[in-house]
Amino acid sequence: MAGLYLHIPFCKQACHYCDFHFSTQLKQREAVLDALVQEMAMQKHYLHGTSLSSVYFGGGTPSLLSEKELEALFSAIHQHFDIEKDAEITLEANPDDLDLYTLNRLYDSEVNRLSIGIQSFRAEDLSLMNRAHEVQQARDCLRLAKEVGFTLLTADLIYAMPNMTDADWVQNLDELLQYDLPHFSAYALTVEAKTALHKFVKDGKVLPASDADQKRQFDLLIDMAISRGYEHYEISNFAKPGQRAVHNASYWKAEPYLGIGPSAHSFNGHSRQWNVSNNAKYVQALAQGALPATVELLTSFDQFNEQLLTGLRTAEGIDLARLEQQFGAAFVTQLHTALLDLKDDWYQLRNNQLTLTRSGKHFADLIASDLFILADEHN
Ligand code: SF4
Repeated sequence: MAGLYLHIPFCKQACHYCDFHFSTQLKQREAVLDALVQEMAMQKHYLHGTSLSSVYFGGGTPSLLSEKELEALFSAIHQHFDIEKDAEITLEANPDDLDLYTLNRLYDSEVNRLSIGIQSFRAEDLSLMNRAHEVQQARDCLRLAKEVGFTLLTADLIYAMPNMTDADWVQNLDELLQYDLPHFSAYALTVEAKTALHKFVKDGKVLPASDADQKRQFDLLIDMAISRGYEHYEISNFAKPGQRAVHNASYWKAEPYLGIGPSAHSFNGHSRQWNVSNNAKYVQALAQGALPATVELLTSFDQFNEQLLTGLRTAEGIDLARLEQQFGAAFVTQLHTALLDLKDDWYQLRNNQLTLTRSGKHFADLIASDLFILADEHN
């Protein structure tokens, strides 16, 4: 199993909280998309012929792709990779792009799953975030996507926003749950450096939600999702039974994936690499036949720690017997020692399976970093 990610680095406008790589300058669009096609040819052996169980168009805003552009990308994918018959093929889309015509066009393409950036059903949140869509477009596209026949649908919501009360969040979430989607994701708003939101907060124009607000709204999220039949299978992800996302799971299970496009990351089990986060530099490098990527060889420590970081975020947690097989008994012994310093009510260890409790899920990344094994501590 392997995944292919294509980064489409264009957006109509910059959302205030976003630190992904994108450009609102569309003039290089054709050159960037040509470069993506060229990079696929150069990277066709990266996955050693493993067939693709998932393809993911992320960004940026892939729903800006025209029919011709999407076809050109699919044609290159087919030329260089083998897509499994039942592969999950996701395209991230923004509500303002999803009119009936575009939805029908996407439905007739090879895309079989849409990930829709709803973020909120409240006009004041959309305005604060500088989203390009309006509330009614969010409502319309969810209804229309189902009507044209998409059964694999997921949507994103953001909680712990400035001025968002618990009642606002419950109302927002409740509205999404009424669409009865097979899958959705919910993220706490984080104030990332170098974003407009960061500046607003620094200038005192926006007061971010407190840790206590975030914690309460996360608990409300889990309770409501579970009561409506969703599994909380990863910290930010919820699925109806049998509807978990294939592509993201490959990241969490440390399966190989190839990322194409500016800023895209790749992983092959032994090394990680990431492309330059600059459209002009990306195009220029490929024009000279070079891959604009930085490669990092992963030590056993890196791989072990990465598995802790991603595995602890999942409902299944981490299989310590498998870790021992992969990394040796000394690593797992050291992990057991580190666990002694963790709060008892943050984790469970049953049948060699390490999982986080509800309290632990509030601190998943912090817990993982407390359990990391560093080379100079290892004996
Ligand atoms: S549409 Fe998505 S990628 Fe583009 S700026 Fe907004 S959040 Fe970032």
